[in-house]
Amino acid sequence: MRRILIAGNWKMNLTALEARVLVASLRSDIDRDAAALARDRDVLIAPPAVLIPAVSQALAGASIALGAQNMHFEDQGAFTGEVSAPMLKGFGVTHVILGHSERRHVFHENDDLINRKILAAARHRLTPILCVGETQHEHDAGRALEVVLTQLQAGLSGLYPQHRGEVMVAYEPVWAIGTGRNATPEQAEHVHGAIRESLRDQFGQEIADSIRILYGGSVTADNVDSLVSKPNIDGALVGGASLKADSFARIVRARVD
Ligand code: PEP
Repeated sequence: MRRILIAGNWKMNLTALEARVLVASLRSDIDRDAAALARDRDVLIAPPAVLIPAVSQALAGASIALGAQNMHFEDQGAFTGEVSAPMLKGFGVTHVILGHSERRHVFHENDDLINRKILAAARHRLTPILCVGETQHEHDAGRALEVVLTQLQAGLSGLYPQHRGEVMVAYEPVWAIGTGRNATPEQAEHVHGAIRESLRDQFGQEIADSIRILYGGSVTADNVDSLVSKPNIDGALVGGASLKADSFARIVRARVD
């Protein structure tokens, strides 16, 4: 059985002080039920890189894991403004979101660059969360699966066999991110099923069955239960609703029917 993962992507929000307050509120809520939640789910927050030291400190002893929103594929060097996997690992980061649609569309990251980052993260034993998703235009043109599966195969290409089971995928239709328009559970499940099938072709049945595929795009406390109740939806990548302790804590308690 795959465990659920509820991951919060804070994007470029919060100061160090605000981050500490949010983590303290989250902990006082989530830590209460930590043992029960830990039975079938994991929780992760991904603050902006500059807040990682403060959040790492605030999370000491908590059941919440720490993620990053991006990283460079090299370990060090003349890459102004970038951070590397060893730097992140030094603060207890265990996961890294890669290929988020804002990285693809605002910062023009392509599949090749994202693939290099995925391989670097895996080499450093940071769990990469590869984001894939079609734009509104591609969706309307009926090209969702073609776009998503191309991004998936390119993003995961060249992974060593020992790293293949350690990646995660997040299906995030671009038209649903930050728009309040989420995919219906049926729409999302259709794409997640196709992702699972493609993973099976790429890596074989056993690994495909073990990889967690998250859904992201306007996930809220009101829609999370029906999404994660679908067989191929193994959790959520949450943007806006992860910035408030009460809404994120409710999403963390998603009911799986
Ligand atoms: C995201 O940032 O990955 C995201 C899905 O954002 P939101 O939940 O705000 O749509």
